[in-house]
Amino acid sequence: MEVKSVKAFGNTSPEADLKAMAINRRMVTLKDVEIDILYCGVCHSDLHFAKNDWGMSEYPVVPGHEIVGKVTRVGDGVSKYQVGDLVAVGCLVDSCRTCNNCKEDLEQYCSEWIATYGGPDKHLGSHTFGGYSESIVVDEDFVLRLPDNLDLAGIAPVLCAGITTWSPLQHWKVGKDSTVAVVGLGGLGHMAIKLAAALGAHVTLFSRSTNKIEDAKALGANEVIISTEESQMEQAMGKFDLIIDTVPYAHDLNPYVGTLATNGTLVVVGYLGPLDPMLVTVPLIMGRKTVAGSLIGGIAETQELLDFCGKHNIISDVEVINIQEINEAFQRMLKSDVHYRFVIDMKSIKK
Ligand code: NAP
Ligand code: ZN
Ligand code: ZN
Repeated sequence: MEVKSVKAFGNTSPEADLKAMAINRRMVTLKDVEIDILYCGVCHSDLHFAKNDWGMSEYPVVPGHEIVGKVTRVGDGVSKYQVGDLVAVGCLVDSCRTCNNCKEDLEQYCSEWIATYGGPDKHLGSHTFGGYSESIVVDEDFVLRLPDNLDLAGIAPVLCAGITTWSPLQHWKVGKDSTVAVVGLGGLGHMAIKLAAALGAHVTLFSRSTNKIEDAKALGANEVIISTEESQMEQAMGKFDLIIDTVPYAHDLNPYVGTLATNGTLVVVGYLGPLDPMLVTVPLIMGRKTVAGSLIGGIAETQELLDFCGKHNIISDVEVINIQEINEAFQRMLKSDVHYRFVIDMKSIKK
């Protein structure tokens, strides 16, 4: 298959920093769109994957799944996009398209979904490379259309941080009578607050960080609870219909279960792994409560969210960086020092 060598940033082992490297992209086939990448958001999953936190990374890793760019070439069979269109790509670039999940627009739960990076590359062999690169080639069915009124850097995080929190807000039918809480104010957390507030919910943030209270309120939170303060946790008992937990590492879910209302749901989107400490079932039983999980969102749902953001003027609060600053950005992310999403200006890769 004909390929093109393009500039990218990635790492070759869990210990290694990310650095400039060359990767191959396929030339467009019938249904492909080639995209010149303008901006790419930095998700905590990029850091987990680069460092092999989930034990499934294959190297080199080229992260990045909050991609915004301009179409530079289309295959002969492409009907949805033209050269010059501003488009986006999120966390998935293909799926089987025939299973029940795919038929129901839940491609993210297809057993054969292909992640934007680290998934099997059925065209070139080996694995897929993400958006920390000059360009990407994606089947048009997995490319998204951007609203034309929003800042391009600010819209990038909607492709993962946005959809990952929007999908549970939709699934659990959050609206103006809902009480929603968000655990952790980082990339996902700040989008969760904005989106839940836009849906009219009463929004509370649980945070360990006392220095984020004002920011949370400016983002749309009605209240902030410092999760390390027992008295504040006590006052929140039995309050929430839905809690979206974005914390990336193992932590105690039990105090949050206590703050769910009867029939309430705590949906974990952040941490992947065994719970430590274990869940105590008594509070679940006593209030018919649910602890659930949720993975990103399907293509149609992501398009709906982009359109919703266009209509309601919602973008992410971003700190734009050059690709050469990515290792420092990862370090700050580990210290919860993100306000509230790093987005890479991909022009910098051409330097
Ligand atoms: P982030 O920007 O680093 O934010 C995480 C926030 O969680 C931090 O700002 C901090 O908020 C809190 N936190 C961090 N470490 C903590 C700890 N050890 N204990 C308690 N709280 C902690 O990360 P992100 O990009 O939002 O991603 C969050 C997680 O979601 C990651 O694990 C990522 O892999 C995962 N993710 C999942 C999906 C999915 O589909 N389910 C999609 C995307 C990302 P405070 O300072 O307010 O406490
Ligand atoms: Zn992500
Ligand atoms: Zn499928």
